[in-house]
Amino acid sequence: MRKLADILSTKDVDLLLENIHAGVALAARDGALIAWNSILEESRKQLKNADNLKDYFLREDRETVLNRVSGGMPERWLGKFLMHGTDPAVLCDCALIPTLNDRTLFIAERLGPESVLCDVIETLNRRVKLFQVESSFTKKLAHDKQVELDAVVAQAREVAQTDPLTFLYNRRAIIRELQDEVLRARRYASMLSVSIIDVDHFKSINDTYGHRVGDEVSRQVAQRLREGIRHPDIVGRYGGEEFIIVLPNSGAKAAGEQAARLCGQMSEMDIQVGEHTIRVTLSIGVAQLRNGDDTWDSLLKRADNAMYEAKKRGRACWVVAE
Ligand code: GH3
Ligand code: MG
Ligand code: MG
Repeated sequence: MRKLADILSTKDVDLLLENIHAGVALAARDGALIAWNSILEESRKQLKNADNLKDYFLREDRETVLNRVSGGMPERWLGKFLMHGTDPAVLCDCALIPTLNDRTLFIAERLGPESVLCDVIETLNRRVKLFQVESSFTKKLAHDKQVELDAVVAQAREVAQTDPLTFLYNRRAIIRELQDEVLRARRYASMLSVSIIDVDHFKSINDTYGHRVGDEVSRQVAQRLREGIRHPDIVGRYGGEEFIIVLPNSGAKAAGEQAARLCGQMSEMDIQVGEHTIRVTLSIGVAQLRNGDDTWDSLLKRADNAMYEAKKRGRACWVVAE
C-alpha cells in the first residue's frame, strides 16, 4: 500500500478536508481552535465564532470534552456534536488524535442511518413505556368503573325485586323463587309447600282509619311474617294485602303448623299506628307440591282455593289443600 501522505500536496490535503463529510479541527490542549475545515466553519458561523472545541458540544458534555483534549491521549467516543451550530445536536463518531507540539486533531463524523434508527427506536421505546403506564392506569380506571357498575347493577336488581311498601320480595320475585323451587323439588324429588296469606277484612281498616293507616298495617303484617318464618322459607308480597310463603323441603304438615302459628301470633298482636291500636287476623291456604302432577301455577291455585275455603269457614284460620 502506498501512503497517501507521501504523495499528497498541501493543496490535495486541503481538497480532501473540504470534501469529506466530517468536521475536522486542530486544537490546542486547552481546546482553543487553531484551524478547521469548512464543515466546522458552518457551525462556527452559527455559534458566533466560538473558538473553543468545547463550545461545539452540549453544555452538559463540555467539561468531559475539555478533559479529553487536555489529557493528550488518543480518544474515541460517540457524542452529540453541534454539527450545524444549533440544536438538535447530531450523534457523531468523535476522535481526538494528539499531534506534535501539544496539539490535537479533532474529527467528528456524523453517524449513518443506523444511529438515526437507534434514536427512533429509543423514542419508540419511550413511547411504549409511556403507553404501558397509561394503559395500566386505564386498566385500573376500567376496573374501578366495572366495580361501580356491578354495584349499580346489584342495586338495580335489588330494587327490581323488592316491594317498596313492605321491602319483601315483590310479586315477580316471589313467583320466580317459587318456579325455581318447583324445578329443584322435581329434580331432587324433595318436598315443597306454599302458603297464601290474606288479611281479613282489610277493607274495613281502610274505611275506619284511612288508606295511610291501612298501608302501615300492611307493612307491619309483612314485618311479622318475615320474623315468623325460618330459613329456607321465603316470603313475598303477592299483591294488596296478600302474601306468599314458599317452604322448600317442607310438606303440608310442617306448612300447616307454620300457618297455625302465624294465625295465632297475628290475632294476639297489637299493631300500633299512631294513636290507633289495631288487631288483624289472617286466612291462610296451604298446598303441598304433588310431584309429577303440579306445576308452579297449579300449586299456587290449590293454595289460593284453600285460602278461600278458610274465608268460607269464618276467617282467622288455615286450610290445607287436599
Ligand atoms: P277478606 O279478605 O276478609 O274477604 O276482606 P278484605 O276486606 O280484606 O277483602 P279483599 O281481600 O278482597 O280486599 C282487600 C282490600 O284491601 C282491597 C283494598 O281496598 C285494600 N288493600 C289492598 N292492598 C292495600 C294496600 O297496600 N294498602 C291499603 N291501604 N289497602 C290495600
Ligand atoms: Mg285480598
Ligand atoms: Mg283480605
